Amino acid sequence: MSTIFSGIQPSGELHIGNYLGAVKNWVQLQDRYECIYCVVDYHAIIGSFEPDDLRRRTREMAISLFAAGLDPEKSTLFVQSMVPEHTELAWIFNTVTPLGELERQTQFKDKAQRQESVNAGLLIYPVLQAADILLYRADLVPVGEDQVQHLELAREVARKWNAKFASELFLEPKPLLTATRRIMGLDGQSKMSKSLGNTIGLLEEPDAVWAKLRPAMTDPARVRRTDPGTPEVCNIYHLHKAFNDEATVEHVAVQCRSAGWGCIDCKKVLLDGMMRELTPIRERARELEAHPELVTDALADGAARSGKIARETMRVVRETMGLR
Ligand code: SF4
Repeated sequence: MSTIFSGIQPSGELHIGNYLGAVKNWVQLQDRYECIYCVVDYHAIIGSFEPDDLRRRTREMAISLFAAGLDPEKSTLFVQSMVPEHTELAWIFNTVTPLGELERQTQFKDKAQRQESVNAGLLIYPVLQAADILLYRADLVPVGEDQVQHLELAREVARKWNAKFASELFLEPKPLLTATRRIMGLDGQSKMSKSLGNTIGLLEEPDAVWAKLRPAMTDPARVRRTDPGTPEVCNIYHLHKAFNDEATVEHVAVQCRSAGWGCIDCKKVLLDGMMRELTPIRERARELEAHPELVTDALADGAARSGKIARETMRVVRETMGLR
């Protein structure tokens, strides 16, 4: 069975953009692959952070992931800093990675331009990403188009280290380009993102979701209730596609074009569809919050399984390189 690796930042509770864009796919992959998933807290310390807040966000992310369907019996889920071999391998990879390659990374250039002071972590975090993947000799990495460049760097690092030490230890991981959805925020303008405040939390109660959904942006051409709309330009319609079946989606389009429904009617149908999928997730999360030992144990078990693979990889790396 091929091995898959993927990581997610500890940003606290998942929102539906993370869920539909990545995590729902992770859950499906666990039936077909050996999946190793990681909450990447070492990556999260590049910017400013409060230790207590980081601890809380890491735990909330783990709860969201288990509640969303990651099954500790099928997948390995752990927190990156529980397996310190990630940073050890990253240091080793720093010594074979050309500086120019890192400086050319689009995400580095974008972020560096927006920040007053740039630390070295921002430049070399793709090397840590390479270490995350290569440590487990993963064959496949589920990525969106914007992550392909980082994966290419991981492939190059694997080639360079193997060539330098005449080894075949590291596999060159391939992208598993999945039909990841780019979920727009409730403003209908930009990608759903916590920093933009345009999200719906995966675990929010129906009342709270409705309070956000009700004023959410729709087709701007529908000024009056009797104005016909164009569903394709409306973010609510795209959310229907994510949460409702084909027949419902078709019905939404007909009602929108004919002004049969007002946007509030349409959003109520969306809320029902969302809650059908999200209520069991929310209930599982509440159960995990009430039994924190279940999360602690599952993460410890995940770290034990991933740590075993990581230590074996590092044993070979050290031996090959003449390190103690
Ligand atoms: Fe959007 Fe629905 Fe309103 Fe059409 S009826 S504009 S799909 S919210």
